[in-house]
Amino acid sequence: MARLTRADFKRLGAELSDEAREAAVAAARGRGVAVPVDWADMPAKKLLRLLAARSQAAQVALTPTRRDEGFTCGHCGAEVPPGGRRPRDHCHLCLHSRHVDIVPGDRAGDCGGDLVPFAVVKEKKGWMIEYRCASCSASRRNRVLDDIAVPDDPAAVRRLMAGGGGM
Ligand SMILES: [Zn+2]
Ligand SMILES: [Zn+2]
Repeated sequence: MARLTRADFKRLGAELSDEAREAAVAAARGRGVAVPVDWADMPAKKLLRLLAARSQAAQVALTPTRRDEGFTCGHCGAEVPPGGRRPRDHCHLCLHSRHVDIVPGDRAGDCGGDLVPFAVVKEKKGWMIEYRCASCSASRRNRVLDDIAVPDDPAAVRRLMAGGGGM
């Protein structure tokens, strides 16, 4: 189980987006960690320190883990290599992903459903693929991987941008 270090706090305090804060809070709630009612008004650093202390007592991880593994796509069967520079979290050919994480990289989810891509949206940090889980309807976003050795198939990304939905 990943423990938060002082360096993590520094990094997270500086980098934590609203989305990451929401994910941390959702993960904490999902694992039975008590979240303060005024969490949205708390500074990121303070909120994380508090959640980390409570989660440590409960032995759960709340922050993304960098995990980069190759896998066989459960949707199209392609052999998907690890990303390298960026963690590979979806198929480079059909863009589907799998609902296996609560917090990115933790593999702690018990759904395992097919994450179906349905749109591409622009965020501050770049283009993101929007997903809905075919089993439980959870929504997720993964970054379009266009700057790594085996990038996402440009034609598949374009289809998605054009509203064509997943393959
Ligand atoms: Zn695939
Ligand atoms: Zn699911």
